[in-house]
Amino acid sequence: MEWETVIGLEIHTQLKTKSKIFSSAATAYGAAPNTQACGVDIALPGVLPVMNREAARMAVKFGLAIGATINQTSVFARKNYFYPDLPKGYQISQLELPIVGQGSITVDVNGIKKTIGITRAHLEEDAGKSLHEDFHGMTGIDLNRAGTPLIEIVSEPDMRSAAEAVAYLKSIHSLVRYLDICDGNMQEGSFRCDANVSIRPQGQEEFGTRTELKNINSFRFVEKAIEFEVERQIDILEGGGRVVQETRLYDADNHQTRSMRSKEEANDYRYFPDPDLPQMVLDDADIEAIRAELPELPDARCQRFVTDYGLSDYDAETLTANRELADYYEQAVATLPDQPKLVANWVNGELAAGLNRENLAITNSPVSAIMLGELVTRIDDNTISGKIAKEVFEAMWSG
Ligand code: ADP
Ligand code: MG
Repeated sequence: MEWETVIGLEIHTQLKTKSKIFSSAATAYGAAPNTQACGVDIALPGVLPVMNREAARMAVKFGLAIGATINQTSVFARKNYFYPDLPKGYQISQLELPIVGQGSITVDVNGIKKTIGITRAHLEEDAGKSLHEDFHGMTGIDLNRAGTPLIEIVSEPDMRSAAEAVAYLKSIHSLVRYLDICDGNMQEGSFRCDANVSIRPQGQEEFGTRTELKNINSFRFVEKAIEFEVERQIDILEGGGRVVQETRLYDADNHQTRSMRSKEEANDYRYFPDPDLPQMVLDDADIEAIRAELPELPDARCQRFVTDYGLSDYDAETLTANRELADYYEQAVATLPDQPKLVANWVNGELAAGLNRENLAITNSPVSAIMLGELVTRIDDNTISGKIAKEVFEAMWSG
């Protein structure tokens, strides 16, 4: 039997605001535990949440960039559950009326374009963290992260392979960084996802039972976790069993997934509208003002690189995969506008290799865009050969 994989992702994206979603405490990462948690974040009695306008603006920016419906009236709801890192006993989220409704994004999967539906993106607060290390057998609670603004981006079950899921995740990652609404740091948990996975016999209309893989924070793990889970489900079904709807954890060290909780044990969150927060109302002028601030988006920039600079689709896609790299390229090209292809070769070649080798971000490149542009200019005017230029590049790289 041939099996078809069905995947839907829920992506938690931390918004890059200075202060929290409902309080004025700082959101900066890495501070000493509980130094960035005010009365609202630690849930002292009598405190009241106040919505951070900037978080709403960032959510709308995302919605506009994926062509989504913006709900001009949206409602915050309490999601009730007990956990030590959630002192209020509920998370403030959105259920029935999220700020961002249906939209979509087109992604490139090995040269083939595919449009993935996005069901919704809602605003919510993050919880705190339990720290299990260094406490002599006890667990510590750090509430610095409590109240950090998130948007949870929920996709339709439109992906059909681990490769498509990774392409989608990368596109959303690139988009939120272009929009400057998230720092995209996956190690620090600023961008993480849950993958919902099911399989069905090829040609069958009805979806199979899904499992949900929790909190995956790297592109490679998403791919591996999904591939492992698909194999596990195939083995179960081919062995005559049935897949149980449950939440599973991916264990990267042992390359396996294991059960966390079944749907029967799943919480009843008793959602209801939060009486402490008014409905959030956006008027047309608010939305148009945000639209006017949208930067050039990755797709448009990629198209422009093909038409204006005569680059191949491949070069244009590589160079526009992140905003800083595209900026670097354009700055370098500005020094010799009639050699866009040669500059692209250097950026995608020697420079990319150097950054890769030393695991550096483009913003920390020892060779600036202007320096690279000037080096390529010397090749272009025949002062030096390409071979010599490589030696010069190495010398510039090492200072
Ligand atoms: P929950 O709160 O139970 O996780 P959500 O509606 O927030 O529910 O998210 C469900 C996610 O699971 C969505 O991304 C959706 O596309 C995906 N999904 C739903 N059914 C299936 C299925 N049969 N196989 C794979 N993914 C699915
Ligand atoms: Mg889920």
